[in-house]
Amino acid sequence: MAGLYLHIPFCQQACSYCDFYFSTRLQRVDDFVDAMELRIHQAGRSRWGSTPFKTLYFGGGTPSLLSLKHVERLLLAVDQAFKTDFQEITLELNPENSSKEYLEGLASLGITRLSVGIQSLQPHILTFMHRAHDQEGALRCLEQLVASPFERWSADLIIANPGQTMEDVIADVRLLAGFEPPHISAYVLMLEERTRLEKQVALGRIQMPEGDIVADQMQAAQSILMQHGYFRYEVSSFARGGLQNRAIHNSRYWDHQPYLGLGPSAHSLWWDGTVENASATRWHEVKDLRQWMAVVHDNAADLNVVHDNAAHHAEYEKEFQQELEHLDAVSLAEERIMMALRTSEGISFNELADRYHVSFVEAHHQHIQQWIAHEWAVPGLVNHVKFTDRGLDRADALLLDLLTIPLKSHRLDVAESLPRESDKINA
Ligand code: SF4
Repeated sequence: MAGLYLHIPFCQQACSYCDFYFSTRLQRVDDFVDAMELRIHQAGRSRWGSTPFKTLYFGGGTPSLLSLKHVERLLLAVDQAFKTDFQEITLELNPENSSKEYLEGLASLGITRLSVGIQSLQPHILTFMHRAHDQEGALRCLEQLVASPFERWSADLIIANPGQTMEDVIADVRLLAGFEPPHISAYVLMLEERTRLEKQVALGRIQMPEGDIVADQMQAAQSILMQHGYFRYEVSSFARGGLQNRAIHNSRYWDHQPYLGLGPSAHSLWWDGTVENASATRWHEVKDLRQWMAVVHDNAADLNVVHDNAAHHAEYEKEFQQELEHLDAVSLAEERIMMALRTSEGISFNELADRYHVSFVEAHHQHIQQWIAHEWAVPGLVNHVKFTDRGLDRADALLLDLLTIPLKSHRLDVAESLPRESDKINA
């Protein structure tokens, strides 16, 4: 069972902090949708055509720049090209694209969940972020979502922006929680390379907040969300009332399920679940929109050929793949530990043994005992480790520390013959 991600690489304007791949040349949207239809059919001719898909996610960029007709065409192509049994079809929505008619149209096409990029409800923070919406637009969008047919929707907030006070954060979280979104993602602002924000910080025009301010703001946000009935099931993810409102598509990434990403810069993971011969691979599609469309059209004539064996598939998909990585069992296990321990579920030692053929060594167990002593991990669990809320607050630092210790492989013959780190190949 896999997840399907379609990257819609267009935005009205560039947000100051964003390093995702997108273009502001909106006149290319029609050509892009033509190419994406082709790309979906091409991928359906590969081994992905016989893989059942459980979730579909329209991400970006700004998928809500697509018209209802565009969305309908892409849904039809997905339905024709793949075996689907979707539990969830999510589309990312920007407030400036929201209207009663658009939301009702998306629901009638079969979109089951919306993820709206609110980011802040404070006018000065939205201006700093260079978002395309203002406070009024964000509030109007939230009202439309509450009145819409969507029972499942999520709102994103970004916390710890330069110049954002604790009062701003508290006001943002309270105001947003008052709309009772079934799901909220609350992220800490990250300084990404090659963004306008990075340039401003480098020039000394803007200062990022200190670590203790970031931690205090995040804790304040969490405690307000918990008072409003939200359950923190991942470091940045809060589901109202319990796990029934969690993001299924993202949860499947964290559970190491395979996913196919189509569109410029979209990432994929192929893994058949075995740990033989570095069986997992990861790559991303060509990043540049024009180049990506050229590759799709160059391969358009190939649509009648089915590439369903491994050799054909590898040759065919090579056209689209960049930075192909082969992942061995130990790399996969480390990745799974990182992702699982960022969730409220944690990781079971049996899963590590059964799925990845690895186990923790004594030094790992000593770390876990220290976490329990600091109340960062839950005490009394058998063959299982998971963080408390206090542990989730510092999960990244604790995990980096833990994973400096090598895991014990149960398949020494294979482990010795494989590179310890992912073997990167630039395709
Ligand atoms: S709308 Fe989203 S993808 Fe587009 S620039 Fe802003 S943050 Fe990035």
